[in-house]
Amino acid sequence: CLWEFRYAEFTSEMNTGSERCSLYLYHMRLSDDVLLDVMARFRAEMAKGLGRDTNSTATVKMLPSFVRSLPDGSEKGDFLAVDLGGSQFRALEVKVFNDGKQSSQLESKFYPTPKEVIQGSGTELFSYVADCLLDFMESKNLQHKKLPLGFTFSFPCKQTKLEEGALLAWTKHFKVRGVQGTDVVSSLRKALQKHKDIDVDVLAMVNDTVGTMMTCGYDDPHCEVGLIIGTGTNACYMEEMRHIDLVEGDEGRMCINTEWGAFGDDGALDDLRTEFDRELDLGSLNPGKQLFEKMISSLYLGELVRLILLKMTKEGLLFNGKVSTALLTKDKIEMKHVCAMEKYKEGLSNTKEILTELNLFPSEEDCIAVQHVCTIVSFRSANLCAAALAAILTRLRENKKVLRLRTTVGIDGGLYKTHPQYPKRLHKVVRRLVPNCDVRFLLSQSGSSKGAAMVTAVAYRLAAQRKQIDAVLAPFLLSLDTLREVKNKMRAELEYGLKRETQASATVKMLPTYVCGTPDGTESGKFLALDLGGTNFRVLLVKIRSGRRRSVQMYNKIFAIPLEIMQGTGEELFDHIVQCIADFLEYMGIKGARLPLGFTFSFPCRQASIDKGTLVGWTKGFKATDCEGEDVVDMLREAIRRRNEFDLDIVAVVNDTVGTMMTCGYEDPNCEIGLIAGTGSNVCYMEDMKNIEIVEGNEGKMCINTEWGGFGDNGCIDNIRTKYDKQVDEGSLNAGKQRYEKMTSGMYLGEIVRQILIDLTKQGLLFRGQISESLRKRGIFETKFLSQIESDRLALLQVRRILQQLGLDSTCEDSIIVKEVCGAVSRRAAQLCGAGLAAIVEKKRENRGVEHLQITVGVDGTLYKLHPHFSRVLQETVRELAPQCDVTFMLSEDGSGKGAALITAVAKRLHNIGRK
Ligand code: ADP
Ligand code: MG
Repeated sequence: CLWEFRYAEFTSEMNTGSERCSLYLYHMRLSDDVLLDVMARFRAEMAKGLGRDTNSTATVKMLPSFVRSLPDGSEKGDFLAVDLGGSQFRALEVKVFNDGKQSSQLESKFYPTPKEVIQGSGTELFSYVADCLLDFMESKNLQHKKLPLGFTFSFPCKQTKLEEGALLAWTKHFKVRGVQGTDVVSSLRKALQKHKDIDVDVLAMVNDTVGTMMTCGYDDPHCEVGLIIGTGTNACYMEEMRHIDLVEGDEGRMCINTEWGAFGDDGALDDLRTEFDRELDLGSLNPGKQLFEKMISSLYLGELVRLILLKMTKEGLLFNGKVSTALLTKDKIEMKHVCAMEKYKEGLSNTKEILTELNLFPSEEDCIAVQHVCTIVSFRSANLCAAALAAILTRLRENKKVLRLRTTVGIDGGLYKTHPQYPKRLHKVVRRLVPNCDVRFLLSQSGSSKGAAMVTAVAYRLAAQRKQIDAVLAPFLLSLDTLREVKNKMRAELEYGLKRETQASATVKMLPTYVCGTPDGTESGKFLALDLGGTNFRVLLVKIRSGRRRSVQMYNKIFAIPLEIMQGTGEELFDHIVQCIADFLEYMGIKGARLPLGFTFSFPCRQASIDKGTLVGWTKGFKATDCEGEDVVDMLREAIRRRNEFDLDIVAVVNDTVGTMMTCGYEDPNCEIGLIAGTGSNVCYMEDMKNIEIVEGNEGKMCINTEWGGFGDNGCIDNIRTKYDKQVDEGSLNAGKQRYEKMTSGMYLGEIVRQILIDLTKQGLLFRGQISESLRKRGIFETKFLSQIESDRLALLQVRRILQQLGLDSTCEDSIIVKEVCGAVSRRAAQLCGAGLAAIVEKKRENRGVEHLQITVGVDGTLYKLHPHFSRVLQETVRELAPQCDVTFMLSEDGSGKGAALITAVAKRLHNIGRK
């Protein structure tokens, strides 16, 4: 007999071999090769759906759901939901408790969906939904509460917000007039407004797949896929925002509702579709549409079986060729029949009963054959579903750039839940198709309905968190008016520093440098330079050539200054410096030559001549004793004398800003400003002698080292200092000093970020509220991490990795917040710096008495050079606040080395002229 086969073959789940299959059923049995092919086709289709230019022609629509976050267990509250589009329509109340146990309480009521409602008009449909909700609320005594509501609406919708979406097309057995293309949330809202006594706020609209993922995500944080195998079939998963062309923004992830039911609507699966699939489609409400769904979902399985049985009977292969009226009736065989017939353990009794009820008079062989048909049809469903799911899992794995993916798939749907073999088959095939994914399949309890409440709960939590984060970062957002105020205050402080009466108490010290001219190109010779005051201490040999072969050659060596020396005694510090010089001279073989030396000493010094500088006070990380108030050149000379090994001609003591200005001035005579944005923050510029009251003479110009880092030390910018700035200040070596520098320079930005992160964590907004050991460590968050984290090219995953290296275990959401914090801090720094610089260029413009000023600023400093946005924001701010100045920014190449040598050369030249 054609249909003879053994029970054993059933249990071996029709692997291969059962050759006795009828010819047309042969086509329904899909080998792994075919499934891998389906998987590849589906992957291509997903990519097409995500692409901006290809989306319109894609059958798999890949609809953004605007769900960006999964539950994190801290949600709480009382939420309503209505679920429309599944097998049953229901209203729910979900209570979520933030008790650390992910507990929730659900109460619901089912309502019928009469045919006149689901195939009537839109107004009728939504007022029916509203009526049912009102009934539910009355039965639960909720009508006087204002509750947020989530709307599960399981049809393809083009969402534009979490609470806004237009229906693309009805699917399943729905066909309501006047809804397609309109926003279903506002229709629901309108219907709800008609009931005066209820006050609900529709906060979210979700697809049942998304609801399932969210519900499972509440129990299992690994859940990032939602799958429905019920009346319809569909899947959603968390996609990287940067791959979603249709939604602005690149940060984080968003759940994509694939709407995979439409896979194949362009003919992509035609080679796999059988004559029965075609016949079923023609008899459906939406012919030509949802072709993948029609091969999978429970709404169609029974009908497929019926069509096959009908044909086989007509060909005399079953029931002695006798067709019953029942067998001729559409939808007479339902999924529940298929499930019952496939209960092998119950033998053939179910099958026999069902067939008998259909007025077919089955023999035992008929029953076996029918059972087999059911198996083939439902197994194909599981196979196809597995192939598409495998494609999603592969995409997730590749997005995460991991070799093995560990993930959880949340599942809901009647077919999966009630069919005796379906889950086992699906799991097995998925694991075969994607062996490099460890998948947990989590059955969702009323996932699709509860999910809308979960989405609403998450949206609620996020809105509350957003408010808190905004409140923390708000003081970092400076308005243009505030920046203008900063500029004006800076301008006032510059004037105080220049005036004789106010100079002593000025916080912006405006130190004369005795550098009066920029290089003219005639400088030449060999010079030594020292660079002290930055991250590194360096000794340099600089060879300058003049004339036609004008060039500067430099050799340098970096020496570490140990912390105990930076913060030890002055003698120890200068002995160490001289030791380094000795090493360098030895290393270069120039110990005997008494070379002129320029000493770049990047701390505020009060100078009486170019080679005399009294340290006003240490800044940045230095705090050696017995130096403040002393002449640093004397201290260096004494240390050289103490060593008594070599002699040097110390010609100039130079601030790094001045060195930077000189270096750029060597290339561009229009450069009259030097800016440092590195460990510290400072500016110098050429000021008219007549404005410098504390230096004799009114002719020409002199470079002023502003030492603007001290701006605000009199409290004049305390209105914009945040509590985080104050914490950073209190933890620093020079509390109360350099307030502007502490808001703008590399040494402090990371520390400000760390203080904010601690606060956000304390508020439970980051790192699950846990302040890790590493976050407690001062200095752990270096400014270079700001640059890395804020880089546009960096995916969020890499941000997470950076944080991980710092010992900060972050989620995706955490990384977004950290990045936002970094951005706020560095942006404010650049804006404040820009406001200060605007004051300087405006002053220069007024000095020259011109309407428009063209000027070049020489800039050095790693913060300026390496941070991805700092320089741009700084420049934009200057342009905004000093519109009459056309400022060119010129990067300095090693200002502190080359500049010191140039200043030494100029000083030497002037000195020689003087002698002559
Ligand atoms: P200086 O100490 O002479 O100012 P730099 O100009 O090189 O030297 O500045 C060093 C400072 O720059 C470091 O203290 C650090 O705060 C900051 N920094 C280092 N790397 C980066 C980076 N990649 N992006 C932004 N800032 C950085
Ligand atoms: Mg430097």
